[in-house]
Amino acid sequence: MNPTPEAPGTILIDGIGTLITNDPALGRGPLGEIPEAALVLEEGRVAWAGPRVQAPDADARVEAAGRCVIPGFVDSHSHIVFAGDRSREFAARMSGTPYTAGGIHTTVAATREASDAELLSNARTLVREARAQGTTTLEAKSGYGLTVQDEARALSVAGRVTDEVTFMGAHLVAPEYADDPEGYVDLLTGPMVETCAPLARWVDVFCERGAFDEQAARRILAAGAEHGLLPRVHGNQLGEGPGVSLAVEVGAASVDHCTYLADSDVDALAQAARRPEPTVATLLPGVDFSTRQPYPDARRLVDAGAAVALASDCNPGSCFTSSLAFCIALAVRDMGLTPDEAVWAATAGGARALRRDDVGHLAPGARADLTLLEAPNHLYLAYRPGVPQVAAVWKDGALVSGRP
Ligand SMILES: [Zn+2]
Repeated sequence: MNPTPEAPGTILIDGIGTLITNDPALGRGPLGEIPEAALVLEEGRVAWAGPRVQAPDADARVEAAGRCVIPGFVDSHSHIVFAGDRSREFAARMSGTPYTAGGIHTTVAATREASDAELLSNARTLVREARAQGTTTLEAKSGYGLTVQDEARALSVAGRVTDEVTFMGAHLVAPEYADDPEGYVDLLTGPMVETCAPLARWVDVFCERGAFDEQAARRILAAGAEHGLLPRVHGNQLGEGPGVSLAVEVGAASVDHCTYLADSDVDALAQAARRPEPTVATLLPGVDFSTRQPYPDARRLVDAGAAVALASDCNPGSCFTSSLAFCIALAVRDMGLTPDEAVWAATAGGARALRRDDVGHLAPGARADLTLLEAPNHLYLAYRPGVPQVAAVWKDGALVSGRP
């Protein structure tokens, strides 16, 4: 059935050199890789995936000409609602000044001063930038407002660019509460979460020395849960600490950074990966790159059986990249992932970190979120670092960036 001429009912993407489905039932290996493949999209979903010689007819046809199609990247960690610029701080850091969490205050001041329209325009620009690089799902956090009103308006802006919105008033103690951090936690777990919870799906806390300790983090996550928010944690970025064990204990969907892990943390993540709702270790190599920190040992996590995701952590301070291809290249070069594992982590891994089963794969029924690469296979993402290789991006079955 063909409803209207301007909206074809089905679209066939034909002549795909390598199709990555992330469904082992559909093709080779954990990536469910199908050579010489085709894909049929219908009403925003994948209707069919398989060898092109078996492809059904469709109302419209796109020629992939031997190029690779992968699921759209699922970037499960970003801070794209902000104003201001910290390029000089980056330059200073690269000249020998170490990174500390306090630089966030620079962005807090600029974000509070910015209008809603400015914040929305900045966020939209970054979503467009990420999309052009193959990201079709992008989580976004608040955390540069740190007052009830400024956190709420950051979440409203985030909600206009994504469905994956995270309340992170617990990014850092607000400057007004520098001498009374307990008072800020009272605000967070009282009026702030009450106002912010209806605007978000997730609650996140920076559980790290210089930000929130274990006891405060536990209170904040519990207050979020009472208001219907699902937990996520920033942990173990600057040193070993309680972030990972707390995340696993409260059943967080993800604990992010994981740069410094004790053996017990790795064991806990491996056990948590076997739960029906796992706690994913989300690695953010762009941060380690941009802060000149050591990289997390992804190989150790994967070998232990932990679920691993890769995300950008796109933010103006510690990592101003929106490129998951860059993160894949770093994960392969410096964190011990194979190219296959890194591509999985940036797609299916990210979906798992957001507890989404409709994205991160291209099995029939999945959301038709996909990227056509200017490359014959997915290995090129790590093989050709720094080179733009995204030809076209579809989200919900609609072409949203580039052209095939
Ligand atoms: Zn972050």
